[in-house]
Parts: sequence; structure tokens; C-alpha cells
Amino acid sequence: MTKTPRSRRAAAPTLEMPAPPDRRRFRTRLLTWYGRHGRDLPWRTTDDPYHILVSEIMLQQTQVDRVLPKYHEWLGKFPSLHALASADETHVADTWRPLGYNIRPRRLQAIAREAVEKYDGRLPDDEATLLSFKGIGQYTAGAIRSFAFRQRAAILDTNVARVLFRIFVGSGDPKSHAMKKHLWAVSEVMMPQKQVFDFNQALMDFGAMVCVARNPKCLVCPMSKDCLSYQTGPINARP
Ligand code: SF4
Repeated sequence: MTKTPRSRRAAAPTLEMPAPPDRRRFRTRLLTWYGRHGRDLPWRTTDDPYHILVSEIMLQQTQVDRVLPKYHEWLGKFPSLHALASADETHVADTWRPLGYNIRPRRLQAIAREAVEKYDGRLPDDEATLLSFKGIGQYTAGAIRSFAFRQRAAILDTNVARVLFRIFVGSGDPKSHAMKKHLWAVSEVMMPQKQVFDFNQALMDFGAMVCVARNPKCLVCPMSKDCLSYQTGPINARP
């Protein structure tokens, strides 16, 4: 294959941080939208790190509607990390089964066992220790810190990455390593000093309800005036 000379390759877009006024406007609009349209979900009324962990692992690649009944059933059968750690593995797998992706219940039980063995059945609240668990990545660590321990921790799942990319970047490869790094940095600078819990929940809801992957609701979107993707369209061709 003939290599394209360096000078003729398409230049990568410059990845710039949103300016402070843009950040403030985004936060205000997002939190206002969330106050009106945010979903009432059971894991938003708890600060139990285990409950948050269960919801986050269940929500990986599964729709909220399917997770809701299973979340309640799971916590009924395995109400704590201790209970999950000592549960029969077949029982754990059977309880999870309709959600698919059977690696996830095994991963969850392995986290529970490690938490019991090393931390007296509790999840730690610092990022480095959370990341030391196999099965807890940067997103899940951020969710546990932000939602359970109410720390000022950023999150970036698929939905949030799509929202931030469309609004603040608009071009380039959204899946590249450099872009992901940039979007994590954007998620961090976007966080308000207060209301981090609501802000992160709002980001996830906005990506799940308005700025969806296909057919985003740009015509009713409160961000459209500032959205780089919307301003340069068409959106549906974009990830
Ligand atoms: S205008 Fe469209 S692409 Fe931009 S944030 Fe809103 S829904 Fe997403």
C-alpha cells in the first residue's frame, strides 16, 4: 500500500477547550433541562456505593427499561457486597441471565469478593483504589465517586461522549484515543463546583433522551444554538 505523504494527510482538528462563558451556558441549560425532564430512577435516590455499582454494571449495553425490574430483584437477593460475595455462582448467573453478557455478573461478584477480602465489604472512595479492581474502569469509578460519595468526579460513557463531541468538537474521529482523552478533559472542565451529582445524571439523560445516536432531537434541543454539529449538519451522518 502506498503511504500518503505526511504533508498531504488531512490535518487533525485542533482540540480546544470550551471557553468559560460557553461552559457556564452549557451547565445552566443542561441543569434547567434536567430539572424539567430528568428521569426518576431508583439508583438516583440512594448513595449506597454497592447499589450504584450494580446499576452501572447492569446499564452497560442494556436499556434502562430492562434494567429496572432486574435491579430490584438483584438487590432483593443480594442486598450487600457480603451477600453477593458468598452467594452461589450459579444462583448469581441465573439471577442475571435475562440481561445477557454473562461476564458482567461474574465481574460483579469478583468485585464483591475483593471488597470483602480487602476492604471489609465496602467500596473505597478514591479513584486509584477503585481502578485497582478488575471490572471497574474510569467511567464506573467516576460514577461511584460522583453518585455515591458525591465527589467532584467526571464521567464519560458512550452517551456523554457523543453529547460533548457533537456540541463542542463537531469534527474528527470521535473514537480516536486523542479524542477520548480530549472528551474526558472536556467533561472535567464542564463540571460545576456544586450539583455534580445532578450535572452528571443530566449529561447521561440528555444523551439518552435528546442527543441520541440516531435521529437526535435537534429541533427541540436547548443546546442547538451552541452545538457545532448542528450548526454544520447533517447530524445523522455523525456518530
Ligand atoms: S443540537 Fe442535536 S446534535 Fe446538538 S446537542 Fe442538540 S440534539 Fe445533540
